[in-house]
Amino acid sequence: MIKTPGCLFVISAPSGAGKTSLVRELLQSSLNLNLSVSHTTRLPRNGEIDGRDYHFVTEAKFKQMLFNGEFVESAEVYGNLYGTSQHWLNDAMSSGQDILLEIDCQGAKQIKQIFPHSIAIFILPPSAEALATRLKTRAQDDPEIIKKRLKAAREEISHIAEFNYIIVNGKLNEALSDLICIVKAERLKTERQTMKHHLLVAQLS
Ligand code: 5GP
Repeated sequence: MIKTPGCLFVISAPSGAGKTSLVRELLQSSLNLNLSVSHTTRLPRNGEIDGRDYHFVTEAKFKQMLFNGEFVESAEVYGNLYGTSQHWLNDAMSSGQDILLEIDCQGAKQIKQIFPHSIAIFILPPSAEALATRLKTRAQDDPEIIKKRLKAAREEISHIAEFNYIIVNGKLNEALSDLICIVKAERLKTERQTMKHHLLVAQLS
């Protein structure tokens, strides 16, 4: 039997665009997506749990893993290191699951080079003011970091042409519904459907 390969969705956004809430809602929408838990050298924020939100590791450990080739992609974002486990991705891919990576633009670019069929989605905040407000009200980072993130947002947004889809996250429900549409449409693409339903197509041809 032919195993249909899963879709590889990659979601990027400037910090404060509401990507984490959106992804959380998407995972609850019974679409059966498998989220990769990244490794990072960043310290946990309030409420974050090791193994659920991130695998929090020391810089020495991260660098050792990097040296051992344990990351399929990695990047330095706002002074911290982040990476996606090669081993986890291989396992998830070989089981045919649909995968979701929530990573920055540098990572999305690396994934696109390795997996040209990956589906890259960029989340935009509805306005520059909204972005600044969200970063400030989140208040989980100090003002210097917020300033850095606002500057980085401009840089990240300059890469939007490299993405397959763009969603403006003004209202969470609307953005979520856009995201669900993308997931469903990608799953229904002819290439995937003919592979998945090859017996049906053969019977009916
Ligand atoms: P935060 O520290 O706010 O959780 O994440 C900062 C940025 O790092 C976000 O844009 C997030 O998507 C990105 N990020 C998280 N995990 C990874 C990863 O494994 N690889 C890359 N390249 N970026 C990541």
